[in-house]
Amino acid sequence: MLPPFAVMLPRTLLPSFLLLISGLPALRAEEAYTFRRPAMGTVWTIKLYAESEKVADEAAAAAFARVEEINQALSDYLPDSALSRLSASAGQGKPVTVTGDLRAVLERSLDASRKSGGAFDLTVGPCVLLWRESRKTRRLPEPAALAAALQSSGWESLTFDADAGAALLKKPGMRLDAGGIAKGYAQDEAMKVLRERCGIQSALIDCGSPLVSGRPPGRAGWNIALAKVEPDEPETVLQVENLCVDTSGDLHQAVEIDGRRYSHIIDPKTGLGLTASVQATVVAPSATDADWLATALCVMGPEQGMTFMARHYPKLQARIAQRNSDGSLVRAQTHGFAALLKPETANPEGQKAPALPAAK
Ligand code: AMP
Ligand code: MG
Repeated sequence: MLPPFAVMLPRTLLPSFLLLISGLPALRAEEAYTFRRPAMGTVWTIKLYAESEKVADEAAAAAFARVEEINQALSDYLPDSALSRLSASAGQGKPVTVTGDLRAVLERSLDASRKSGGAFDLTVGPCVLLWRESRKTRRLPEPAALAAALQSSGWESLTFDADAGAALLKKPGMRLDAGGIAKGYAQDEAMKVLRERCGIQSALIDCGSPLVSGRPPGRAGWNIALAKVEPDEPETVLQVENLCVDTSGDLHQAVEIDGRRYSHIIDPKTGLGLTASVQATVVAPSATDADWLATALCVMGPEQGMTFMARHYPKLQARIAQRNSDGSLVRAQTHGFAALLKPETANPEGQKAPALPAAK
């Protein structure tokens, strides 16, 4: 029961006063806990601030469980995933009901394809499959096999009826590959679990590209090292809150076949790995967006990529670098990108990059 004089206290003081008189300890300082686990073909790190080890363990376990649930739905390696079952229906003329995570990723991917003019394409599956083999054997696909894979690709042959909740893969042999968006989606969903279900305010979820929520206690933001463009350039650090920093592309690690370098990202027009040497970084509140955008910007390259960002995502920041065959480097970045850098680590080269072209 409240002591009679408690009614004299201003409302804002009441909770701390009650804590004092009840002898309960004041709120404990939050500590950092780090967890690592393999998932979706890579190693995931979750770093979070919590008031006890128990709270931290339970939160990380719940977040990892959500990632695994999404993997079970979206993996093209698992023949029984919802995504693989949908792919198996290709060319049969029967729409398939899709729900939950597959539906969410399908809708986001189709929107991505529409906006990017097919630079991002969930239906590149047959080409990815062929390309995985080429990367292993270091031999280009047979022309007939490549033509068949291209014939079985194309996002316009994937339709989704939102009212019926049903998807149709119109052409035989079509195969979906969510490798360019599923990890980002899983990061967003795992962060939701930490925040909404477990009450964690400050966390980092990193599966190669980090997503952060809140800021570490007493700090201005999370420090995220930016993927370098040149191996010998000084390290650049972004200081961010509630953002994902996603980098795609392979300026430094591409496969060489017959003297040409190829990327693991497919140019949907040729069905082969990109021959341009490109790296794209996107900074966005949504990891799903950052993931697919970084992949799509690699396909577009610096000039087209910047025009695309200005037109469709004027509030997001991105940087694209492309190495030309003569060894020269073309860099471009959006207007707000430099402002994200921590002043003492800002890379002057990066800040001199060409400004964003005007939106059309
Ligand atoms: P990321 O590493 O996020 O750029 O994603 C690359 C992965 O996305 C590849 O390993 C493929 O599984 C898939 N992918 C490759 N090219 C494309 C593309 N043009 N559109 C959509 N997904 C792609
Ligand atoms: Mg990506």
